[in-house]
Amino acid sequence: MKPRVNRVPKNKIPLGPPYITSDELRAVDRVLKSGQLSLGEETTKLEKEVAKWVGAKYAAATSSGTTALHLAVVTAGIGVGDEVITSPFSFVASTNCFLYEKAKPVFVDIDPESFNIDVSKIEKAITKKTKAILGIDIFGYPAEWEEIIKLAKKRGLKVIEDAAEALGAEYKGKKLGSLGHMAVFAFYPNKQMTTGEGGMVVTNNKKQYQLIKGLLNQGRGPDMQWLRHPYLGYNYRMAEISAAIGRAQLRKLSNFLKSHDQVAKWYEERLKGIEGVNLMKINDKDHKRSWFVYVVRLDKIYDRDEIIRRLRKEGVPSKAYLPSIHLQPYMRQYGYKKGDFPVCEAVSSSTLALPFYTGMKEKTVDQVCDKLRKNLK
Ligand SMILES: *Cc1c(COP(=O)(O)O)cnc(C)c1O
Repeated sequence: MKPRVNRVPKNKIPLGPPYITSDELRAVDRVLKSGQLSLGEETTKLEKEVAKWVGAKYAAATSSGTTALHLAVVTAGIGVGDEVITSPFSFVASTNCFLYEKAKPVFVDIDPESFNIDVSKIEKAITKKTKAILGIDIFGYPAEWEEIIKLAKKRGLKVIEDAAEALGAEYKGKKLGSLGHMAVFAFYPNKQMTTGEGGMVVTNNKKQYQLIKGLLNQGRGPDMQWLRHPYLGYNYRMAEISAAIGRAQLRKLSNFLKSHDQVAKWYEERLKGIEGVNLMKINDKDHKRSWFVYVVRLDKIYDRDEIIRRLRKEGVPSKAYLPSIHLQPYMRQYGYKKGDFPVCEAVSSSTLALPFYTGMKEKTVDQVCDKLRKNLK
Protein backbone atom coordinates (compact mmCIF):
# COMPACT_ATOMS: atom_id res chain seq x y z
CA MET A 1 0.00 0.00 0.00
CA LYS A 2 1.12 3.57 -0.65
CA PRO A 3 2.48 5.41 2.38
CA ARG A 4 0.12 7.67 4.28
CA VAL A 5 0.47 11.40 3.73
CA ASN A 6 -1.12 12.33 7.06
CA ARG A 7 1.95 11.38 9.06
CA VAL A 8 1.62 9.76 12.45
CA PRO A 9 3.94 11.66 14.83
CA LYS A 10 6.75 9.56 16.30
CA ASN A 11 6.28 10.52 19.93
CA LYS A 12 2.50 10.85 20.07
CA ILE A 13 0.25 7.88 19.45
CA PRO A 14 -3.06 8.84 17.79
CA LEU A 15 -6.38 7.17 18.64
CA GLY A 16 -7.69 6.40 15.17
CA PRO A 17 -6.53 8.56 12.27
CA PRO A 18 -7.62 7.86 8.68
CA TYR A 19 -5.20 6.48 6.10
CA ILE A 20 -4.76 9.09 3.38
CA THR A 21 -2.37 8.64 0.45
CA SER A 22 -1.44 10.44 -2.76
CA ASP A 23 -4.49 8.68 -4.34
CA GLU A 24 -6.87 10.82 -2.29
CA LEU A 25 -4.85 13.97 -2.99
CA ARG A 26 -5.10 13.28 -6.71
CA ALA A 27 -8.82 12.51 -6.46
CA VAL A 28 -9.53 15.86 -4.81
CA ASP A 29 -7.36 17.64 -7.36
CA ARG A 30 -9.30 15.98 -10.19
CA VAL A 31 -12.67 17.09 -8.81
CA LEU A 32 -11.57 20.66 -8.14
CA LYS A 33 -10.18 20.98 -11.64
CA SER A 34 -13.41 19.60 -13.13
CA GLY A 35 -15.43 22.36 -11.50
CA GLN A 36 -18.24 19.88 -10.81
CA LEU A 37 -18.42 19.98 -7.03
CA SER A 38 -21.87 18.50 -6.44
CA LEU A 39 -24.31 16.12 -8.14
CA GLY A 40 -21.68 14.66 -10.42
CA GLU A 41 -20.36 11.34 -11.52
CA GLU A 42 -18.00 10.78 -8.56
CA THR A 43 -21.03 10.32 -6.33
CA THR A 44 -22.93 8.03 -8.69
CA LYS A 45 -19.79 5.98 -9.30
CA LEU A 46 -19.09 5.64 -5.59
CA GLU A 47 -22.68 4.48 -5.07
CA LYS A 48 -22.33 1.77 -7.71
CA GLU A 49 -18.93 0.72 -6.42
CA VAL A 50 -20.06 0.43 -2.80
CA ALA A 51 -23.21 -1.47 -3.81
CA LYS A 52 -21.07 -3.90 -5.77
CA TRP A 53 -18.50 -4.23 -2.99
CA VAL A 54 -21.06 -5.17 -0.35
CA GLY A 55 -23.30 -7.15 -2.70
CA ALA A 56 -26.40 -4.96 -2.53
CA LYS A 57 -28.47 -3.87 -5.53
CA TYR A 58 -28.59 -0.14 -4.76
CA ALA A 59 -26.68 2.40 -2.73
CA ALA A 60 -27.40 6.07 -2.09
CA ALA A 61 -24.62 8.36 -0.88
CA THR A 62 -25.38 10.90 1.83
CA SER A 63 -23.68 13.65 3.81
CA SER A 64 -23.15 11.45 6.89
CA GLY A 65 -24.02 8.15 8.50
CA THR A 66 -26.56 9.98 10.62
CA THR A 67 -28.39 11.45 7.62
CA ALA A 68 -28.31 8.03 5.95
CA LEU A 69 -29.98 6.56 9.03
CA HIS A 70 -32.56 9.33 9.07
CA LEU A 71 -33.48 8.57 5.44
CA ALA A 72 -33.78 4.87 6.25
CA VAL A 73 -36.16 5.78 9.08
CA VAL A 74 -38.27 8.11 6.91
CA THR A 75 -38.57 5.60 4.07
CA ALA A 76 -39.45 2.83 6.51
CA GLY A 77 -42.48 4.94 7.37
CA ILE A 78 -41.50 5.48 11.00
CA GLY A 79 -43.33 8.48 12.41
CA VAL A 80 -44.89 10.20 15.40
CA GLY A 81 -45.66 7.83 18.27
CA ASP A 82 -44.23 4.72 16.62
CA GLU A 83 -41.98 2.57 18.78
CA VAL A 84 -38.59 1.45 17.56
CA ILE A 85 -36.75 -1.38 19.26
CA THR A 86 -33.02 -0.82 19.46
CA SER A 87 -29.88 -1.26 21.53
CA PRO A 88 -28.79 1.25 24.17
CA PHE A 89 -25.15 0.31 23.57
CA SER A 90 -24.35 2.33 20.47
CA PHE A 91 -23.38 5.72 19.22
CA VAL A 92 -26.29 8.14 19.81
CA ALA A 93 -27.01 8.55 16.09
CA SER A 94 -28.65 5.11 15.94
CA THR A 95 -31.36 6.37 18.31
CA ASN A 96 -31.40 10.03 17.25
CA CYS A 97 -32.31 9.07 13.68
CA PHE A 98 -35.86 8.14 14.72
CA LEU A 99 -36.22 10.72 17.50
CA TYR A 100 -36.11 13.27 14.65
CA GLU A 101 -39.42 11.75 13.51
CA LYS A 102 -40.84 11.80 17.06
CA ALA A 103 -40.82 8.03 17.32
CA LYS A 104 -40.18 6.48 20.72
CA PRO A 105 -37.10 4.47 21.64
CA VAL A 106 -37.71 1.06 23.19
CA PHE A 107 -34.35 -0.20 24.34
CA VAL A 108 -33.56 -3.86 24.80
CA ASP A 109 -30.53 -4.95 26.80
CA ILE A 110 -27.45 -6.37 25.11
CA ASP A 111 -25.66 -9.67 24.99
CA PRO A 112 -22.69 -9.57 27.37
CA GLU A 113 -20.36 -11.26 24.85
CA SER A 114 -21.16 -9.64 21.49
CA PHE A 115 -22.38 -6.29 22.95
CA ASN A 116 -25.17 -6.42 20.34
CA ILE A 117 -28.90 -6.40 21.09
CA ASP A 118 -29.95 -9.55 22.99
CA VAL A 119 -32.39 -11.13 20.53
CA SER A 120 -33.93 -13.33 23.20
CA LYS A 121 -35.32 -10.17 24.83
CA ILE A 122 -36.78 -8.47 21.75
CA GLU A 123 -40.16 -10.22 21.56
CA LYS A 124 -41.16 -9.15 25.07
CA ALA A 125 -40.56 -5.52 24.06
CA ILE A 126 -42.92 -5.61 21.07
CA THR A 127 -46.24 -3.77 21.50
CA LYS A 128 -49.06 -2.70 19.20
CA LYS A 129 -47.11 0.47 18.51
CA THR A 130 -43.85 -1.20 17.50
CA LYS A 131 -42.95 -0.26 13.96
CA ALA A 132 -39.36 -1.40 13.47
CA ILE A 133 -36.28 -3.06 14.87
CA LEU A 134 -33.13 -1.02 14.42
CA GLY A 135 -30.15 -3.31 15.01
CA ILE A 136 -26.54 -2.23 15.25
CA ASP A 137 -23.38 -4.19 14.44
CA ILE A 138 -21.45 -2.72 17.29
CA PHE A 139 -17.66 -2.55 17.01
CA GLY A 140 -18.00 -4.28 13.62
CA TYR A 141 -19.47 -7.51 15.03
CA PRO A 142 -22.60 -8.72 13.19
CA ALA A 143 -25.82 -8.78 15.18
CA GLU A 144 -28.09 -11.86 15.08
CA TRP A 145 -29.74 -10.93 11.80
CA GLU A 146 -31.45 -14.21 11.06
CA GLU A 147 -33.36 -14.10 14.33
CA ILE A 148 -34.09 -10.38 13.98
CA ILE A 149 -35.44 -10.79 10.44
CA LYS A 150 -37.50 -13.84 11.40
CA LEU A 151 -39.07 -12.03 14.32
CA ALA A 152 -39.71 -8.90 12.28
CA LYS A 153 -41.47 -10.93 9.58
CA LYS A 154 -43.61 -12.74 12.13
CA ARG A 155 -44.70 -9.49 13.80
CA GLY A 156 -44.87 -7.34 10.66
CA LEU A 157 -42.03 -5.00 11.57
CA LYS A 158 -39.50 -3.14 9.47
CA VAL A 159 -35.80 -3.88 9.88
CA ILE A 160 -33.07 -1.25 9.68
CA GLU A 161 -29.42 -2.13 10.09
CA ASP A 162 -26.94 0.38 11.43
CA ALA A 163 -23.73 -1.08 10.01
CA ALA A 164 -21.86 2.23 10.41
CA GLU A 165 -19.10 0.43 12.29
CA ALA A 166 -19.13 -2.75 10.24
CA LEU A 167 -18.22 -2.22 6.59
CA GLY A 168 -16.69 -5.52 5.44
CA ALA A 169 -18.10 -7.66 8.26
CA GLU A 170 -19.83 -10.92 7.34
CA TYR A 171 -22.86 -12.72 8.72
CA LYS A 172 -23.34 -16.38 7.76
CA GLY A 173 -20.92 -15.93 4.88
CA LYS A 174 -22.61 -12.81 3.48
CA LYS A 175 -21.29 -9.29 3.67
CA LEU A 176 -23.35 -6.95 5.83
CA GLY A 177 -25.40 -4.72 3.57
CA SER A 178 -26.35 -7.64 1.34
CA LEU A 179 -28.90 -9.26 3.64
CA GLY A 180 -31.89 -7.61 1.92
CA HIS A 181 -33.12 -4.99 4.37
CA MET A 182 -31.90 -1.37 4.42
CA ALA A 183 -28.43 -1.02 5.91
CA VAL A 184 -26.42 2.09 6.59
CA PHE A 185 -22.68 2.69 6.43
CA ALA A 186 -20.74 5.72 7.62
CA PHE A 187 -17.53 7.30 6.39
CA TYR A 188 -16.50 9.54 9.25
CA PRO A 189 -12.66 9.61 9.50
CA ASN A 190 -12.44 6.93 12.19
CA LYS A 191 -14.50 4.34 10.28
CA GLN A 192 -13.10 1.51 8.13
CA MET A 193 -12.86 3.97 5.23
CA THR A 194 -13.60 7.67 5.04
CA THR A 195 -14.99 10.39 2.79
CA GLY A 196 -14.32 13.10 5.41
CA GLU A 197 -18.00 13.17 6.29
CA GLY A 198 -20.37 10.85 4.50
CA GLY A 199 -22.68 7.88 4.62
CA MET A 200 -24.52 5.38 2.45
CA VAL A 201 -27.87 3.62 2.53
CA VAL A 202 -27.87 0.27 0.75
CA THR A 203 -31.00 -1.64 -0.19
CA ASN A 204 -32.23 -4.28 -2.62
CA ASN A 205 -35.51 -2.45 -3.10
CA LYS A 206 -35.61 -0.20 -6.16
CA LYS A 207 -38.59 1.91 -5.06
CA GLN A 208 -37.01 2.54 -1.69
CA TYR A 209 -33.75 3.48 -3.34
CA GLN A 210 -35.46 5.97 -5.66
CA LEU A 211 -37.34 7.51 -2.77
CA ILE A 212 -34.10 7.89 -0.81
CA LYS A 213 -32.35 9.47 -3.80
CA GLY A 214 -35.19 11.96 -4.09
CA LEU A 215 -35.40 12.76 -0.38
CA LEU A 216 -31.69 13.43 -0.01
CA ASN A 217 -31.91 15.84 -2.92
CA GLN A 218 -34.60 18.21 -1.57
CA GLY A 219 -37.50 15.88 -2.30
CA ARG A 220 -37.22 15.81 -6.05
CA GLY A 221 -39.18 13.09 -7.84
CA PRO A 222 -37.54 10.14 -9.58
CA ASP A 223 -37.32 12.18 -12.79
CA MET A 224 -35.08 14.56 -10.79
CA GLN A 225 -36.63 17.62 -12.37
CA TRP A 226 -34.76 20.55 -10.96
CA LEU A 227 -37.61 22.53 -9.39
CA ARG A 228 -40.29 19.96 -8.94
CA HIS A 229 -40.66 18.68 -5.38
CA PRO A 230 -43.37 16.06 -4.82
CA TYR A 231 -42.47 15.74 -1.13
CA LEU A 232 -40.60 17.37 1.73
CA GLY A 233 -36.94 16.54 1.29
CA TYR A 234 -33.56 17.39 2.69
CA ASN A 235 -30.18 18.41 1.47
CA TYR A 236 -28.32 15.30 2.56
CA ARG A 237 -26.14 15.10 -0.55
CA MET A 238 -22.57 13.92 -0.49
CA ALA A 239 -20.10 16.40 -2.02
CA GLU A 240 -18.15 15.31 -5.10
CA ILE A 241 -14.83 15.81 -3.30
CA SER A 242 -15.98 13.43 -0.59
CA ALA A 243 -17.17 10.87 -3.13
CA ALA A 244 -13.84 11.01 -4.97
CA ILE A 245 -11.97 10.47 -1.70
CA GLY A 246 -14.30 7.57 -0.99
CA ARG A 247 -13.58 5.94 -4.35
CA ALA A 248 -9.84 6.12 -3.70
CA GLN A 249 -10.39 4.66 -0.23
CA LEU A 250 -12.65 1.88 -1.47
CA ARG A 251 -9.93 0.62 -3.79
CA LYS A 252 -7.73 0.11 -0.74
CA LEU A 253 -10.46 -1.15 1.55
CA SER A 254 -9.54 -4.82 1.49
CA ASN A 255 -5.96 -3.88 2.34
CA PHE A 256 -7.22 -1.64 5.14
CA LEU A 257 -9.21 -4.56 6.53
CA LYS A 258 -6.19 -6.86 6.34
CA SER A 259 -4.15 -4.33 8.27
CA HIS A 260 -6.92 -4.08 10.90
CA ASP A 261 -6.99 -7.88 11.28
CA GLN A 262 -3.23 -7.88 11.78
CA VAL A 263 -3.26 -5.07 14.36
CA ALA A 264 -6.09 -6.79 16.25
CA LYS A 265 -4.05 -10.01 16.28
CA TRP A 266 -1.02 -8.20 17.70
CA TYR A 267 -3.19 -6.75 20.45
CA GLU A 268 -4.73 -10.11 21.19
CA GLU A 269 -1.36 -11.86 21.47
CA ARG A 270 -0.16 -9.28 23.97
CA LEU A 271 -3.29 -8.82 26.06
CA LYS A 272 -4.59 -12.39 26.16
CA GLY A 273 -2.83 -13.41 29.33
CA ILE A 274 -3.39 -10.27 31.38
CA GLU A 275 -5.49 -10.81 34.47
CA GLY A 276 -8.67 -8.78 34.43
CA VAL A 277 -8.45 -7.69 30.80
CA ASN A 278 -11.19 -9.22 28.67
CA LEU A 279 -10.98 -9.21 24.91
CA MET A 280 -13.82 -8.76 22.45
CA LYS A 281 -15.70 -11.76 21.13
CA ILE A 282 -13.81 -13.74 18.51
CA ASN A 283 -15.21 -14.80 15.14
CA ASP A 284 -17.20 -18.00 14.76
CA LYS A 285 -18.69 -19.66 11.69
CA ASP A 286 -21.60 -17.19 11.49
CA HIS A 287 -19.86 -13.95 12.49
CA LYS A 288 -16.85 -12.28 10.97
CA ARG A 289 -15.97 -8.97 12.58
CA SER A 290 -14.68 -6.04 10.59
CA TRP A 291 -12.37 -4.40 13.10
CA PHE A 292 -13.34 -0.82 13.81
CA VAL A 293 -11.92 0.10 17.24
CA TYR A 294 -9.90 -2.01 19.64
CA VAL A 295 -11.94 -2.26 22.79
CA VAL A 296 -11.10 -4.18 25.93
CA ARG A 297 -13.27 -4.76 28.95
CA LEU A 298 -11.70 -4.41 32.38
CA ASP A 299 -12.75 -6.43 35.41
CA LYS A 300 -14.50 -4.60 38.23
CA ILE A 301 -11.31 -4.52 40.29
CA TYR A 302 -10.10 -1.71 38.01
CA ASP A 303 -11.25 1.88 37.91
CA ARG A 304 -11.65 2.25 34.16
CA ASP A 305 -11.75 6.06 34.17
CA GLU A 306 -8.60 6.22 36.28
CA ILE A 307 -6.81 3.88 33.85
CA ILE A 308 -7.84 6.15 30.96
CA ARG A 309 -6.45 9.19 32.81
CA ARG A 310 -3.16 7.42 33.54
CA LEU A 311 -2.77 6.25 29.95
CA ARG A 312 -3.46 9.72 28.66
CA LYS A 313 -0.75 11.16 30.91
CA GLU A 314 1.70 8.76 29.31
CA GLY A 315 0.76 9.73 25.78
CA VAL A 316 -1.64 6.88 25.04
CA PRO A 317 -5.09 8.21 24.13
CA SER A 318 -7.99 5.97 25.03
CA LYS A 319 -11.68 6.52 25.44
CA ALA A 320 -14.60 5.30 27.53
CA TYR A 321 -16.46 3.58 24.76
CA LEU A 322 -19.42 3.56 24.57
CA PRO A 323 -21.61 5.30 27.18
CA SER A 324 -25.16 3.93 27.45
CA ILE A 325 -27.56 5.94 25.29
CA HIS A 326 -30.47 5.65 27.74
CA LEU A 327 -28.42 7.44 30.40
CA GLN A 328 -27.55 10.47 28.26
CA PRO A 329 -29.00 13.67 29.79
CA TYR A 330 -31.34 14.39 26.88
CA MET A 331 -32.86 10.92 27.12
CA ARG A 332 -34.42 11.59 30.54
CA GLN A 333 -37.68 12.73 28.95
CA TYR A 334 -38.30 9.13 27.85
CA GLY A 335 -38.24 7.96 31.45
CA TYR A 336 -35.20 5.77 31.36
CA LYS A 337 -32.97 5.53 34.41
CA LYS A 338 -29.94 3.82 35.83
CA GLY A 339 -30.51 0.12 36.34
CA ASP A 340 -32.89 -0.31 33.39
CA PHE A 341 -30.35 -2.22 31.27
CA PRO A 342 -27.85 -3.77 33.64
CA VAL A 343 -25.78 -5.61 31.03
CA CYS A 344 -25.37 -2.52 28.88
CA GLU A 345 -24.52 -0.37 31.89
CA ALA A 346 -21.95 -2.85 33.16
CA VAL A 347 -20.31 -3.03 29.74
CA SER A 348 -20.43 0.76 29.31
CA SER A 349 -18.67 1.33 32.61
CA SER A 350 -15.88 -1.15 32.01
CA THR A 351 -14.87 -0.87 28.34
CA LEU A 352 -12.20 1.31 26.85
CA ALA A 353 -11.01 1.86 23.30
CA LEU A 354 -7.27 1.73 22.65
CA PRO A 355 -5.46 3.32 19.69
CA PHE A 356 -6.34 1.41 16.52
CA TYR A 357 -5.85 2.35 12.89
CA THR A 358 -4.80 1.22 9.43
CA GLY A 359 -1.06 0.71 9.21
CA MET A 360 -0.52 0.77 12.98
CA LYS A 361 2.90 -0.73 13.65
CA GLU A 362 3.62 -3.72 15.85
CA LYS A 363 6.02 -1.55 17.81
CA THR A 364 3.24 0.91 18.59
CA VAL A 365 0.92 -1.89 19.70
CA ASP A 366 3.77 -2.97 22.01
CA GLN A 367 4.04 0.50 23.50
CA VAL A 368 0.30 0.70 24.14
CA CYS A 369 0.18 -2.76 25.72
CA ASP A 370 3.22 -2.09 27.90
CA LYS A 371 1.68 1.11 29.21
CA LEU A 372 -1.66 -0.59 29.82
CA ARG A 373 0.00 -3.46 31.69
CA LYS A 374 2.07 -1.06 33.79
CA ASN A 375 -0.91 1.09 34.72
CA LEU A 376 -3.03 -1.87 35.75
CA LYS A 377 -0.54 -2.58 38.53
C1 LIG B 1 -20.40 6.57 13.29
C2 LIG B 1 -21.70 5.99 13.62
C3 LIG B 1 -22.89 6.55 13.13
C4 LIG B 1 -23.03 7.87 12.45
O1 LIG B 1 -22.16 8.19 11.50
P1 LIG B 1 -21.77 9.73 11.19
O2 LIG B 1 -21.18 9.60 9.84
O3 LIG B 1 -20.79 10.14 12.24
O4 LIG B 1 -23.00 10.55 11.18
C5 LIG B 1 -24.07 5.88 13.39
N1 LIG B 1 -24.09 4.76 14.11
C6 LIG B 1 -22.98 4.21 14.63
C7 LIG B 1 -23.09 2.95 15.41
C8 LIG B 1 -21.74 4.82 14.41
O5 LIG B 1 -20.65 4.28 14.96
